[in-house]
Amino acid sequence: MNLILLGPPGAGKGTQAKSLCDKFNLCHLSTGDILRNEVTEQTDLGKQAKSIMDKGELVSNNIILEIIKKFINENLSKYQGFLFDGFPRSAEQADMLDTILNDISVSINKVILLDVDQSILLNRIIKRKEEEGRKDDNEDVLKSRLDVYFTQTQPLIDYYSKLKLLEKVDGTKEIIQVNQDINMIMEAI
Ligand code: ADP
Repeated sequence: MNLILLGPPGAGKGTQAKSLCDKFNLCHLSTGDILRNEVTEQTDLGKQAKSIMDKGELVSNNIILEIIKKFINENLSKYQGFLFDGFPRSAEQADMLDTILNDISVSINKVILLDVDQSILLNRIIKRKEEEGRKDDNEDVLKSRLDVYFTQTQPLIDYYSKLKLLEKVDGTKEIIQVNQDINMIMEAI
């Protein structure tokens, strides 16, 4: 079973991803987490990505392709499937994912959209900044991340709904309730 979690920054993708991966033995592929790790370890890739991430813009597709391919190869045989979180983030990345998955004869079973109104996102992210201290969790960078989401990522909602893969979940409910809503979708696959 392979899933994509789609939704704006602050929608709760990371939180939901963790419990879904535990419950269904999926491998959590978060491009944001992988990139932050590269930055912390000061790898060449991390050095290239850092300034772009600090601005809330998208790092280049070349970098994303490299980290995704490596991650998939390393984890393919260890889990029941992948949960993609923060990727794909644009139409080009959705094409990239199709190609990668085709090559290994794997397909996406569902795309879950965590739907949260923009007015709620800002408050959530300010709170997360206090708790986790992420450098890109500040008001200016958030504006740019939201802008990138609405222009580049949101078109994927249409793309996956045409493929009949999209399921929308109300991401404003309590964490546990959102979790149950997603579990129901997963159990129906
Ligand atoms: P968010 O909370 O905005 O969903 P993420 O942790 O997924 O944050 O990503 C943090 C940053 O990492 C993004 O703002 C972007 O700079 C970079 N990033 C993450 N995933 C991708 C991707 N698939 N393509 C390009 N850049 C990415």
